[in-house]
Amino acid sequence: MELSENQTKVLKALQNDPRASMRSLAEKADVSTPTFSNIVDELEKMGIVKGYRTVLDTRKLGLYTFHVSMEIDVHKSEEIVEKITEIVEINELVELDGSDLFAKVIVQSLDELDDVTRVLKGIEGVIRLDVARETGCLKDPSTVPLETVSNLDIDCYYCKKTIQGTPVKLDMDGRKHYLCCETCASEYKEKYQRLKEESKIQT
Ligand SMILES: [Zn+2]
Repeated sequence: MELSENQTKVLKALQNDPRASMRSLAEKADVSTPTFSNIVDELEKMGIVKGYRTVLDTRKLGLYTFHVSMEIDVHKSEEIVEKITEIVEINELVELDGSDLFAKVIVQSLDELDDVTRVLKGIEGVIRLDVARETGCLKDPSTVPLETVSNLDIDCYYCKKTIQGTPVKLDMDGRKHYLCCETCASEYKEKYQRLKEESKIQT
C-alpha cells in the first residue's frame, strides 16, 4: 500500500503544526474539514499517526541527556528490553542491527546517571555499555520525509496487529476500513454496525 495524495497532504500539515485548528490544517492540506478529520482518524487507526506529544527543552529544565549504546546477548534480548523499559530515566529505547540497543537517558545529575548505568550493567545479558553526554541538540526531531513512502505497514482496525500481506478492505459509509483477516473483518463489521445502531438510538 501507498499513502494517498490526500493522506500525504494531511500528514504534512499535521506534522508541521499539530496544535493548529482543524480548520486551518484542512485549509493547508487543501481538503475540506470533514475530509481532514476523517483522514486523521484513518491514519490513527492504521497506526501511522502514533500520537501527539509535547516537546520539552530538557536543558531549560536543568536535565542532562545521555546516549547509551549497549551490546547485548541476543538470546536474552526480550528479558533485557523488558527490564530496561521499566527504568523511568530511559526516555527512548531502540533496537539496532545486530545485537545492539540504543537508549536515551534523561537524568537530573551525574549521580543519577551512575545509578542508571549500574542498573543497566547489572542486567543479565548486557555485555558492554558506551555512554556519551549530549552537549547540545543541533536539530530537534523534525518532520518525516513522505515523498518516498511506498510501502505502508498498517494496523488491523480490529485486532491492532500489523497487517501481513494484502489487507481485507471493507467499504462502509463511504470509507475504507482495513483488517488483517476475514475473522477480524466480520467481527469488526458486527461491532461497527452495533456502535452505529447505538449512536442512532442516542441521537
Ligand atoms: Zn486483525
